[in-house]
Amino acid sequence: MKKRKLIVFSGPSGSGKTTLVKSILQKKTGIEFSISATSRNPRGNEINEKDYYFLTPDEFKRKIENDQFVEYEEVYPNKFYGTLKSEVNRIWGNGCHVIFDIDVFGGLKIKNKFPNETIAIFVKPPNLKTLEERLRKRKTENESSLKERLLKAKMEIEIASKFDFIIVNKEIEKSIKSAIKKVDEFLNT
Ligand code: 5GP
Repeated sequence: MKKRKLIVFSGPSGSGKTTLVKSILQKKTGIEFSISATSRNPRGNEINEKDYYFLTPDEFKRKIENDQFVEYEEVYPNKFYGTLKSEVNRIWGNGCHVIFDIDVFGGLKIKNKFPNETIAIFVKPPNLKTLEERLRKRKTENESSLKERLLKAKMEIEIASKFDFIIVNKEIEKSIKSAIKKVDEFLNT
């Protein structure tokens, strides 16, 4: 491996970034998923240390105090999410590039900390109406957290231009192809 790199996918909740990240992981070798830490509760089928490192709010705060995060955000009120330094080192230690599925502000923090090692890709929904439909279909949110996510999406879309690339996710197969092309170009430079 030439150089260990960081591949950031960010975008509003429901933009399809998780699907893109999962397809890249399926289609390419030498890339590992960065498991984030969070203080939110696990959803039905989520597994600790696979989907997230689920921490109590106190455990999360202790790790902030001990400077254990590369980045962290209070993504929604009282719900913290962050990338542990130990996670990036674990993956780099395995000789792999790291791929992230994180919120827009966290994504930009990674880009700012590691400007030369990072490609930051913003996944944009075609419009807010489509985003709302996708979130409703997913049935993971109640009405208030859905509103919270839509409100945050508007803010996130406003800073999309700070990313290296924007993928407008209209048709998932086309988006997968263009994401893989960008990642390949980046890893081969
Ligand atoms: P969810 O609750 O739907 O799993 O995630 C909510 C949001 O938090 C998503 O936009 C997700 O990408 C983001 N997120 C997940 N992990 C991290 C992280 O480590 N850092 C930051 N800043 N955001 C994260």
